[in-house]
Amino acid sequence: MSKGLVAATPGGPEVLSWEDVETPAPGEGEVAVRHTAIGVNFIDVYFRSGLYPWPEATMIPGAEAAGVVEAVGPGVADFAPGDRVAYVARHGAYRERRTIAARHLVKLPDAISDVVAASVMLKGLTAQYLVTSSYPVRAGDTVLVHAASGGVGLLLGQWLKAIGATAIGTAGTAQKVELARRHGYDHVINYRERDFAAAVREITNGKGCAAVYDSVGNDTWRGSLQSLKRFGMFVNFGQSSGMIQGFALSDLAAGSLSANRPMLFDYIAERTDLERRCADLFGRLAAGDVRADTISCRPLRDAAAAHADLEARRTVGATVLIP
Ligand code: NDP
Repeated sequence: MSKGLVAATPGGPEVLSWEDVETPAPGEGEVAVRHTAIGVNFIDVYFRSGLYPWPEATMIPGAEAAGVVEAVGPGVADFAPGDRVAYVARHGAYRERRTIAARHLVKLPDAISDVVAASVMLKGLTAQYLVTSSYPVRAGDTVLVHAASGGVGLLLGQWLKAIGATAIGTAGTAQKVELARRHGYDHVINYRERDFAAAVREITNGKGCAAVYDSVGNDTWRGSLQSLKRFGMFVNFGQSSGMIQGFALSDLAAGSLSANRPMLFDYIAERTDLERRCADLFGRLAAGDVRADTISCRPLRDAAAAHADLEARRTVGATVLIP
């Protein structure tokens, strides 16, 4: 028997309870993994709070983790006990041990530590598909990113820089502005001091951006649309301030704009896509184009406090839970 964090009912961080959880022996196509590091993400908050529906009566949040294979079930040829692995899955990772379908796992290169892997499997693959697929960024593009000093934000800024784009970020404190500047952003707007859409117009000499990557949602979507140039792409990939309210398709008429609302899981649904995108991510990390260097580690049991900090905007970069 091992321990995990289980919510019996949707609610605040306090619904996470430290309990014994069953870890069945791996069946056909499954692998038993001992977790060594588990990433904290806003999607964990969405599931815990009930914003995203639960598939079962109870919920163990947690969408990215790294660990060591302890046993493999029948039909698993690509993994063996002792392998270092990592994965992304919608939920279920806040636990010491887990049995999971082998198709979700990737082997970790020696150069990538467990803590780094647990901080980039979801956030880094998100940055990867955003810049290559949601809106394929080209050298010379100017792009706006909200929550630039957040988990996804710090990776995105560096990736945009490596492509040769001009990255504009927004952040809510002077310390966060400074951190984002050190992670690829050419301009960082403190949105508490300035109207960010007006600042973007000024920075781009009135032209606007080719794309906006907006994970804040309800507080920012109007300003995001105002920050786009003609034919610009509004990518809404999250809602840390709440689900977007009041958006109408006709809002896109102001500049023949486009909008999309992507989810990582669609971009890695096929095994070949997961492997290809991971290879790109691990390659960027190995080359030093993207550094996962802003990570706070805390004990797995403290996940509720980690959620409270994330929701209250007290974090920068990534938080990783250690079992
Ligand atoms: P972040 O670290 O980016 O989120 C926290 C930051 O968001 C805060 O520090 C704060 O920065 C900013 N923020 C703005 N408004 C609010 C608010 N009302 N409440 C709380 N925070 C706010 O988190 P993650 O890196 O985990 O995730 C970033 C976003 O990306 C999330 O919305 C997540 O859902 C989304 N996501 C989407 C995926 C997809 O495929 N669709 C996959 C992965 C992540 P500041 O103080 O600077 O405003």
